[in-house]
Amino acid sequence: MYEISFYARAGQGAKSAAQFLAESAIKEGKFVQAFPNYGPARQGAPMQAFVRISRRPIKIHSAVVSPQVVVVIDPSLLDFIDVAKGLDKQGFVLVNTSLTVEQIRKKISFVGKIYTFDASSIALELLKKNFANVVLLGQLVKLSKIVKLENLLLVAKKKFSHKLLDQQLITANLTAIKSGYQAIINSGRGISNSQRNKKITFKTDKLKNWREVLPGGLITQAGNATKYQTGNWRDQRPIVDHNKCIKCMACVNLCPEHAIHLVNGKIVIDYKHCKGCGICATTCPVKAIKMIKENKK
Ligand code: SF4
Ligand code: SF4
Repeated sequence: MYEISFYARAGQGAKSAAQFLAESAIKEGKFVQAFPNYGPARQGAPMQAFVRISRRPIKIHSAVVSPQVVVVIDPSLLDFIDVAKGLDKQGFVLVNTSLTVEQIRKKISFVGKIYTFDASSIALELLKKNFANVVLLGQLVKLSKIVKLENLLLVAKKKFSHKLLDQQLITANLTAIKSGYQAIINSGRGISNSQRNKKITFKTDKLKNWREVLPGGLITQAGNATKYQTGNWRDQRPIVDHNKCIKCMACVNLCPEHAIHLVNGKIVIDYKHCKGCGICATTCPVKAIKMIKENKK
């Protein structure tokens, strides 16, 4: 049985990628499972999606804990999640990032193969949106050979035809999968024993155990959401053009994180809480807000 874990944020298409892969395997006569595991039910929150593919009926129904492959759609998760936990040493990690394999290896506790690949740039070029999931799928199929590219394209075409009305967008998505498949990526093989023994620590908050939390998970402190810095969910940031802004306050009212404020007569964004959903940019009637990739100034 082949098991794959996708790490992403809600809204980045990990669930769809898992489904596409599983349905392609069904076309090849395999047994499959594909399901997501959401944390907080909010766009931008960290989540996982799992795939199992087998020649025989699959009898387990738990989350995947020891995958052969890990795909990281959002590299910002590497700073606080050990994505390689349980990963088979003969397997590999595929990361959507412009960083090198060596830079990624410093962030994760994996001694085997790591592949890095800037799928977001290809997605932005072809789809004008950061849907790196489809690009990564192409490369995943090439590296793992778990299904045939033509079956993945057939499934994707059918799925996109149900979801999208624009034929050009359907074609662009299929091109994104093919571009992902054809892309030459950075690869890093296993590492030496001395490097292998180096300990990597992860920043995690100490969570209360079941005896310490209130029954039913009751929250007694009003307004504690301000402590959750949803700004680290962001992969795009909104920038305000104050010359265009007419202070209509539409963005202030519609921001789901209450991260936009009027300060001294100017619209100001609180980047500690802005999760980068882009609702403000879509809402602004005079296009005074534009979204830029997070690592750009
Ligand atoms: S992108 Fe805009 S709407 Fe979304 S959280 Fe940030 S400021 Fe609010
Ligand atoms: S929606 Fe646009 S015009 Fe209105 S306050 Fe926000 S930035 Fe300014």
